[in-house]
Amino acid sequence: MQYIAPLANLIEHFRALPGIGQKTAVRLAYHVLDMDAAAAKSLAGAILEAKEKIGYCSTCFNLSDRNPCAICDDEKRDHSVICVVEQPQDVAAMERMHEYKGVYHVLHGALSPLEGVGPDDLRIKELLTRLYDTNVKEIIMATNPNVEGEATAMYIAKLLKPSGIKVTRIAHGLPIGGDLEYADEVTLAKAMENRREI
Ligand SMILES: [Zn+2]
Repeated sequence: MQYIAPLANLIEHFRALPGIGQKTAVRLAYHVLDMDAAAAKSLAGAILEAKEKIGYCSTCFNLSDRNPCAICDDEKRDHSVICVVEQPQDVAAMERMHEYKGVYHVLHGALSPLEGVGPDDLRIKELLTRLYDTNVKEIIMATNPNVEGEATAMYIAKLLKPSGIKVTRIAHGLPIGGDLEYADEVTLAKAMENRREI
């Protein structure tokens, strides 16, 4: 490495972030060195504050700075409909379309035997527990429209079959192999509207 140790260290940290290659990592590190001390401190502080104040809602497992989160705590929302998604980013995408009035459950991943992700690695048990003590009428499986997302939706639908709760799957207006997070609001709204029972 041709960089002095603290700079090399900073570059290494940036490079560990998703979507950041060596070139960008170097540019960001030099940018930080160019900042005045207050701005650098504020950046470091924002990272620490986000880590300290944001945790998981113990009901839906979405990211939140309070527990229960604002959505679970909202009495105006329909708590009898739970939309199951893979990641907190997917909740944000659904909320952007302003049409869904139910609540959520974040699995934190999808089943992937190839990558060693099994049912116990996801928040599936917590979803089942939730169904016992609430009056849930419909579970909307809004996992990603790819192999892992489909497998996860089918697995949970099968688990819920004996409960008699209606399980629906969002429609495939969504691009196959795509990410819910990147779907536009219109496509997402259409997919929700045309969901089918599974
Ligand atoms: Zn919540």
